[in-house]
Amino acid sequence: VQSTLSITVVGASGDLAKKKIFPALFALYYEDCLPENFMVFGYARTKLTDEELRNVISGTLTCRIDKRANCEDKMEQFLKRCFYHSGQYDSEEHFAELDSKLKEKEAGKLSNRLFYLSIPPNIFVDVVRCVSYKASAVNGWTRVIVEKPFGRDSESSAELTRCLKQYLTEDQIFRIDHYLGKELVENLSVLRFSNLVFEPLWSRNYIRNVQLIFSEDFGTEGRGGYFDNYGIIRDIMQNHLLQILALFAMETPVSLEAEDIRNEKVKVLRSMRPLQLEDVIVGQYKGHNKGGKIYPGYSDDSTVPNDSLTPTFAAAALFINNARWDGVPFLMKAGKALHTRRAEIRVQFRHVPGNLYKRNFGTDLDKATNELVLRVQPDEAIYLKINNKVPGLGMRLDRSDLNLLYRARYPKEIPDAYERLLLDAIAGERRLFIRSDELDAAWSLFTPLLRELEEKKIFPELYPYGSRGPVGAHYLAAKYNVRWGDLSGEDL
Ligand code: NAP
Repeated sequence: VQSTLSITVVGASGDLAKKKIFPALFALYYEDCLPENFMVFGYARTKLTDEELRNVISGTLTCRIDKRANCEDKMEQFLKRCFYHSGQYDSEEHFAELDSKLKEKEAGKLSNRLFYLSIPPNIFVDVVRCVSYKASAVNGWTRVIVEKPFGRDSESSAELTRCLKQYLTEDQIFRIDHYLGKELVENLSVLRFSNLVFEPLWSRNYIRNVQLIFSEDFGTEGRGGYFDNYGIIRDIMQNHLLQILALFAMETPVSLEAEDIRNEKVKVLRSMRPLQLEDVIVGQYKGHNKGGKIYPGYSDDSTVPNDSLTPTFAAAALFINNARWDGVPFLMKAGKALHTRRAEIRVQFRHVPGNLYKRNFGTDLDKATNELVLRVQPDEAIYLKINNKVPGLGMRLDRSDLNLLYRARYPKEIPDAYERLLLDAIAGERRLFIRSDELDAAWSLFTPLLRELEEKKIFPELYPYGSRGPVGAHYLAAKYNVRWGDLSGEDL
């Protein structure tokens, strides 16, 4: 039976739709990954014609460097399959109109419908209600992709889940965490489980600490309204960094099936103790003047209240109370307006016992420990810091890198995370989406801390825009005998 696929982007006039979703759909189309009969619908309140939507989309599409050939034709063909319907988010009538348009194009074929909710969270439930009552597929599947934030604490998240489940079953809900679609994050399990040189080392016996680092080199820049209500802990740590941690630390899953992997991730989250205030430091960037240029502070953002205590930076130490990871600090650090933009996972190994070359490292044996770095972005790379003899007649050692730089080894451009995740949602592959019990477990770890920070009105440590962040992060790490980042002081 011939089937059709419709992808409706709800909130099509917004930033995420333009920046990520339409370009990802085009890239999938270009790669022939979409089914033959597919169409894309935009839905939002803004009044647009099909043609106007196409103009908006075409402004955002790019042809990748390595595939210029017939890209323009492909774009034309893609745009012909894009349509628009304007409506309110809580109007069943308007969704019924959308349904008629979809039905007309589906022309009686088996129809599958994917809805991407690229809208603010306060209208998620209205849209899901309207979709479920008026715009569900009659004879195929209906799936809904939901973007973060999934609540702002345990209670609001549970409430959102409860409301969504009034209209959808769990297997229709695809909670997206786009970090899970990133190439290096996907590769984490491959690296660990398919390499004998790593798998046996993956425990407290050999690993001293693990660091999960996210930094942005820009601030909220006039878009702080949304952020101010959430802060960096909710925006980055509770989801992206914690998801990476769970993948990193999980036991070997029974298979690569989604439920097997998600079961293991939940186990890790449930083995962790909720964050304690003394294991967290928070910061906020302040304005400063550098080289004649003025960098604005967070509270200078006109969309942020002047007395906001919202953290734009946080560092935290987490622990997993199971046999594999007992006592190993997992340190997280996330911040905006720092000196660099990067996301990476750093694994610092223990000292070599009875190291024969001790004296070659002076008093600082930390400098001799191996470190494995997975750079998630930008410029994807995996490198392992090893000790090596400097060639020559003497016996001088230095630190070198075994280096897998993606752009050198795999010159083809890496697909965007949204491409993989959209493709998975279409295929019904749930491995990279967050199950509701995972979400609950994640919030349980952070909710008491978030509440305490707010109730006690903990003042964030101020750090200059463009700096390395508050020094408090170093004291926190030192408490657990950890030094952030590269131990030798030099990085790739
Ligand atoms: P957005 O531009 O603020 O909103 C998307 C669309 O929703 C707007 O074009 C608008 O369309 C409608 N809308 C905005 N505010 C509304 C309100 N108060 N009430 C009703 N409708 C409203 O959001 P976005 O940046 O595209 O993000 C969409 C979703 O993805 C959000 O949940 C966000 O948290 C999440 N997200 C975004 C990013 C990103 O990079 N932007 C990254 C991760 C997650 P109309 O006025 O035409 O109806």
